Amino acid sequence: MERDGAACVWCGSPFDDRLNTATTEHLVPRIKGGPSWVENEVAACRRCNSARGHRGLGEFADECEGLGREVDRERIVRCLHALSAAIAEQGGQRRARPYIATQLRRLDV
Ligand SMILES: [Zn+2]
Repeated sequence: MERDGAACVWCGSPFDDRLNTATTEHLVPRIKGGPSWVENEVAACRRCNSARGHRGLGEFADECEGLGREVDRERIVRCLHALSAAIAEQGGQRRARPYIATQLRRLDV
């Protein structure tokens, strides 16, 4: 939250501690080999988080924009680059690497 600001990455709705609480969205889903690191997390509202499921970032961004929502693509891309840097430093994460590369191409900011 400190890093990203207090709004959903997908729809821009501001978080509060009552009706619209922040949830942790994984950039690379755990099922796709995403690490459980803070670098793999981004803040999303509950609705968007559950609506995305295991879909790719680019695919879901397109869908949200089709619904007239303002996706923070720059935040997503910035976080993907930070995750890449963390992986380069720590090693491993062989499944997450190609996923990140594909999503960066797909987001095309
Ligand atoms: Zn949202």
